[in-house]
Amino acid sequence: MHIYKKRVIPQREEEVFSEMVCDFCGNKSNRKDWPANINKADNFNRIETTVEIKIIENYPESYECRSENYHFCPQCFKKLREWLEGQGVLPTYNEYSNC
Ligand SMILES: [Zn+2]
Repeated sequence: MHIYKKRVIPQREEEVFSEMVCDFCGNKSNRKDWPANINKADNFNRIETTVEIKIIENYPESYECRSENYHFCPQCFKKLREWLEGQGVLPTYNEYSNC
């Protein structure tokens, strides 16, 4: 015979990704990237735009990392690029076959 009794199982709460918001204009994406064409659904092509500074401090037996990120939608990244190029700053171009 199996005898069952009731018990209270505490509800679990965890933090999960909800959406990404452009820090500049408030544009939103329900993914951690942006569709290549923001005006139509496109699950195959994507754009990631993050401006980041990452600082790594080395100690004799360990290290610490910290970073600051700005998330821009592709439209605002274009504005940032135009502003940087207006300052005479050119980007470093990279191509990846595995990303
Ligand atoms: Zn934006």
